[in-house]
Amino acid sequence: YYTSRDGIILDVNRSALELFGYDKDEMIGLDVTCLYADPRDRESFQRRIEEKGSVREYEVPLRRKDGAVMFCVITSSVRYGEDGDILGYQGIIRDRTERKLADDALRLSEEKFSKVFRSSPDWIVISALSDGRLIDVNDAFLRITGYTRDEVIGKTSAELNLWVNYEERAEVTRILREKGVIRDHEVQFRMKSGEIRTMQRSAELIDLQGEKCIINVTRDVTEKKTGEEQLRKFAQELKRSNEELQYFASVVAHDLQQPLLTTLGFLRRLQKKYGSKLEEEASELVSDALGSAERMQTFISALLDYSRVSAVKKIHEPVNANTVLDRVLFDLKSAIDGSGSVVTRDVLPDVVANEVQLAQLFLNLINNAIKFRGPQPPRIHVSAARSGNEWIFSVKDNGIGIPPDKSAHIFQIFQRLHRSDEYPGTGIGLAVCRKIVERHGGRIWVESCHGKGSTFFFTMPVTNPEAA
Ligand code: ADP
Repeated sequence: YYTSRDGIILDVNRSALELFGYDKDEMIGLDVTCLYADPRDRESFQRRIEEKGSVREYEVPLRRKDGAVMFCVITSSVRYGEDGDILGYQGIIRDRTERKLADDALRLSEEKFSKVFRSSPDWIVISALSDGRLIDVNDAFLRITGYTRDEVIGKTSAELNLWVNYEERAEVTRILREKGVIRDHEVQFRMKSGEIRTMQRSAELIDLQGEKCIINVTRDVTEKKTGEEQLRKFAQELKRSNEELQYFASVVAHDLQQPLLTTLGFLRRLQKKYGSKLEEEASELVSDALGSAERMQTFISALLDYSRVSAVKKIHEPVNANTVLDRVLFDLKSAIDGSGSVVTRDVLPDVVANEVQLAQLFLNLINNAIKFRGPQPPRIHVSAARSGNEWIFSVKDNGIGIPPDKSAHIFQIFQRLHRSDEYPGTGIGLAVCRKIVERHGGRIWVESCHGKGSTFFFTMPVTNPEAA
């Protein structure tokens, strides 16, 4: 282009017409400020060119005829007349819009990367693929390893003795060469202090000025690992002490049971054979001794029930809960009739369970519903409702109820809310129920209104969740 000093366009080539979108006769004679996106730029351009006689690569946004703004660079010089006075300016305008957009995008992506690099709580290291030389590390690396930047940049990981098993590096680089990435690879690194930490690394290959490099993001999982390890140990410990307790309970119960049965046998014989011949006081003593021995027998057999729950292995059989309940009600017939209880029920479903244990559950719950009755004759209702992949069974009574703050308490072994002269019992029945339900992967709980009865709930898996 060629413009007069006061800004009239005097000549342009074809490229200029194409660039700005004008016809030649439109453009020649046009005031050049029209081409500036911001007309003030024309003044500063003029100031600079007059000062030095030329400008190089002057960056400025210019406007096309259709209004679109282009990022241009102008290289221009003053054209002088024969007598040395300024005729105007001539120069070249280049459209750099695409390059500018690309530069902006690049700058943005660099900015994003460097922010992530700086602020990441995980360590990020760029190292050479060939020898593990550290090219750049972030602050998290320095903080975790305890090194200063000067101590590590340019050093190889071997020199820093970073890898606890250096052979692993060869394996990692082999995978990287093959696949270009590696994800969540667990590795042990040695810190400056010599301390060894467990890290989880993800890495990718990048090209850095022609050199193949590894960029890796490494997370310190030492605490997580030791936490997991501790948890595993606790769980093992718990399992072991549970097993010991179980073993203890069953051994004690067995060992006590035999002499007790013998004692009971002797006492019964004594009562039967000599009862009529004994003085009244002696006869009372015998019958008290018999009562105590029978209570002990009940207690021991409950303890045995408790210790046997975990021994049963088959807990994944399809079982029809109706049939199980029928049998339990049959076994309880005399207790039901004797107490004037009315037991009603809904149709119960098939479940995945151990039949004997399911029977024991119903038995303990219905027995309690009869035992802890209120002033009215017991009314007991058994039902089941589907909820997702489980059945929720319920045994509802109209008995004495349970204070809400005690409702979790009663599922623990030996926990009772009453003295045994009020209501006989061992405090083991509900603990057995809980153990059975939990072995089946379910939950057990009670809802109760004190004085107005209780409903015990427990869950059991449905037989065929997919089909259902
Ligand atoms: P036990 O019946 O031998 O006392 P359980 O473990 O079966 O032992 O029950 C623990 C306690 O929970 C009972 O002593 C009683 O206080 C309370 N309980 C259990 N079932 C009922 C019920 N249906 N109604 C009221 N209280 C109950």
